[in-house]
Amino acid sequence: MKKIKMTTPLVEMDGDEMTRVLWQMIKDELLYPFVDLKTEYYDLGLPEREKTKDQVTVDSANATKKYGVAVKCATITPNRQRVEEYNLTEMWKSPNGTIRAMLDGTVFRAPILIDSIKPAVRNWQKPITIARHAYGDIYKATEYRVPTEGKAELVFTDKEGNVSFRETVYDFECPGVLQGSYNKDSSIRSFAHSCFNYALNTKQDLWFSAKDTISKQYDQTFKLIFQEIYEADYKAKFEEAGIEYFYTLIDDAVARVIRSEGGFIWACKNYDGDVMSDMVSTAFGSLAMMTSVLVSPDGKYEYEAAHGTVTRHYYRYLKGEDTSTNPMATIYAWSGALRKRGELDQLPELIAFADALESACVETLNDGIMTKDLVGLVLPGTKTTAVNSKNFILAIKERLEKKLA
Ligand code: NAP
Ligand code: MG
Repeated sequence: MKKIKMTTPLVEMDGDEMTRVLWQMIKDELLYPFVDLKTEYYDLGLPEREKTKDQVTVDSANATKKYGVAVKCATITPNRQRVEEYNLTEMWKSPNGTIRAMLDGTVFRAPILIDSIKPAVRNWQKPITIARHAYGDIYKATEYRVPTEGKAELVFTDKEGNVSFRETVYDFECPGVLQGSYNKDSSIRSFAHSCFNYALNTKQDLWFSAKDTISKQYDQTFKLIFQEIYEADYKAKFEEAGIEYFYTLIDDAVARVIRSEGGFIWACKNYDGDVMSDMVSTAFGSLAMMTSVLVSPDGKYEYEAAHGTVTRHYYRYLKGEDTSTNPMATIYAWSGALRKRGELDQLPELIAFADALESACVETLNDGIMTKDLVGLVLPGTKTTAVNSKNFILAIKERLEKKLA
């Protein structure tokens, strides 16, 4: 079989533990035999991050800026226990955090749907993609546990030292709590651009929700910035693509989401996105079936699985036990990245390969062949065969070969 050619390399970010094992299997069985795979390889596994003092993460993000498309394996975010386990000289920052900050990107998460797993919400038929503005608000807030009576004020001092705003937040007559949070126009603008771009890219409606009726400056600013950017840069393109943008209050959005059939992007402020993405992913079934893509405002893409390195399975794997870890989201990270590369470089064969790979995956699951995590989720009466990761990947390969023959 003639291998499919690539022109521009993909930025490949390798990772840790069980997902690192799956990564190699996916390349060996599902990619190398079919594609003349061109990647620029960065090892973001924890030992290499330690060795390079985390420079490798920065280099991989810069490569993503240069080439435009990356695919990333899950990585360990070190905590105190990992510092001991890996003998680290420092508690290196989350690679995802570093890459997101460098690309100024927004994360879009969407579930992979199959016939035999029904979402907890009956009418959901298509994926719901959540876009979370991962900057500021309560995640960067200044907090104070008010110990006694006294006055709390909100004060703004400009660069020249003039106090241009001062207002009493509350005159405390007893102990209480206090919080000061902020966001920046530049970050909200980047968020909006990423959302509008991704909506156009995937031809899905975009919803944005906040609480501007209560938060008349803070949330109102988010709403106005989205509206202004939409009118100026995207309205005509949305109309041409036949998709819609609208703003609605967060509580109205929640009600509409539950009543919807899915198939849209829901852009959320930081906290809403944190909470709603967990709700939506649980309602769709499984973290192992959740894909994730980081999109920068200028259209750079980094594809990955939403789950972590599946540590518990890895420890069993190290003991030589059979593991049945689900590689679906990691395979879809590769197919997503290859498809995007194909679109940018105008390589229809590469796009067709990505489509074939995904449909081979879905076919395998529809044939009842699945990893253990999914067996408990399928509709009662579905005939299933639980397999280990390797045999699952081989079953996909068999179907992929037929499709490409
Ligand atoms: P996790 O790796 O997502 O795994 C949590 C549990 O979810 C697993 O123990 C497993 O449950 C189930 N699971 C997740 N993915 C699965 C898959 N593909 N197939 C089958 N089951 C799956 O989360 P974690 O254990 O909290 O974190 C492990 C490490 O991953 C941490 O070091 C963390 O820093 C890192 N992490 C990285 C990323 C990233 O790079 N994007 C994201 C999150 C976490 P059972 O054990 O019950 O089978
Ligand atoms: Mg959360």
